[in-house]
Amino acid sequence: MRTALVTGGSRGIGKAICKKLAAEGCHVIINYKSNTEEAQNTLNEVIAAGGTGELLPFNCGDKNDIETTLSRWQTENPDRFIEILVNNAGIRRDNVMVMMSDEEWYEVINIHLNGFFHVTRAVSKNMVSKRRGRIVNVVSLSGVQGMQGQTNYSAAKAGVIGATKALAREVGRRNITVNAVAPGFIKTDMTEDIDESQYKAVIPAGRFGTPEEVAAAVCFLTSAEASYITGEVIQVNGGLYT
Ligand code: NAP
Repeated sequence: MRTALVTGGSRGIGKAICKKLAAEGCHVIINYKSNTEEAQNTLNEVIAAGGTGELLPFNCGDKNDIETTLSRWQTENPDRFIEILVNNAGIRRDNVMVMMSDEEWYEVINIHLNGFFHVTRAVSKNMVSKRRGRIVNVVSLSGVQGMQGQTNYSAAKAGVIGATKALAREVGRRNITVNAVAPGFIKTDMTEDIDESQYKAVIPAGRFGTPEEVAAAVCFLTSAEASYITGEVIQVNGGLYT
C-alpha cells in the first residue's frame, strides 16, 4: 500500500484527490489547517469507500509547524514512507496591486511557494534515498497566463511551476517525477464568490470544472502509467487557455 500526503486535503480539490487516491489503494494522509470538521468528513468518506487514511493538521505557511509535524509523524510511523506528495493547500487574497497590502502579498506567497518548499524538502529526502516518488503540485491558470487582481497568487503559482521544472531535473535519475496540474475555474469554496454565468461564454467547455476532473489528472500523474512524464504542467481548464 502506497502512502500519499495531500496538503489542503480536507475540502475542494484536495478532498477529491484524497478520495481518488484512497480508491486506488493508497493510505492517505489528509493535511489541513484549521477546519477539523471538514477534514474528519473527508476521512469518513475515505473509510466508508473502503480506504484508509489519517488526519495530519499543520499550517503550510509555517516552516516550524511543517517540519516538526512531519518529523514527528515519521518517528511515530517508522514503517511508512510517503511515496506520493500532492502540494495542494492554497488561499486567495485578491486585490489590484496598487491597493495590495503587505499581508495579502506575503500570506499568499508564503502558503503557496514557501509551503511548497518546506513540505517538499522534508518529504523528498526519503524519496531520494528510497529512489522512488511522485510529486504533484496543484498550481493554477493564474500562474500560467497571469490574472488581474491576483499578482500575489499568479507570482506564487508561477514560482511553483518554475520549481516543478527545476526539481524534476534534479531528481529524475532517482526515479522521482515532479509535475504540476493547473486548474482553471473549479467549483469549490475558493470560487464561491465568482459568478459562473459571467464566465460561461469565455470558457470553451461552457462551465466551471469539478474537483473530480482535477483529481483525475493529479492521480494519473501519480500512477505507474505516468512514469516517463516529468517537469510537465497539465492544464485542466475546459479549454480556457491552452
Ligand atoms: P478550497 O476549497 O478553499 O480548500 C482549500 C484547502 O486548503 C482546505 O483543505 C484548507 O484547509 C487548506 N488550507 C488552506 N490554507 C492552508 C494552510 N495554511 N495550511 C494547510 N492547509 C491549508 O480550495 P480549492 O479550490 O480546493 O483549491 C485547492 C488548490 O487548487 C489551491 O492550491 C488553489 O490555489 C488551486 N486552484 C483552485 C482553483 C479553483 O478554481 N478552485 C483554480 C486553480 C487553482 P482548512 O479548511 O483547514 O483551512
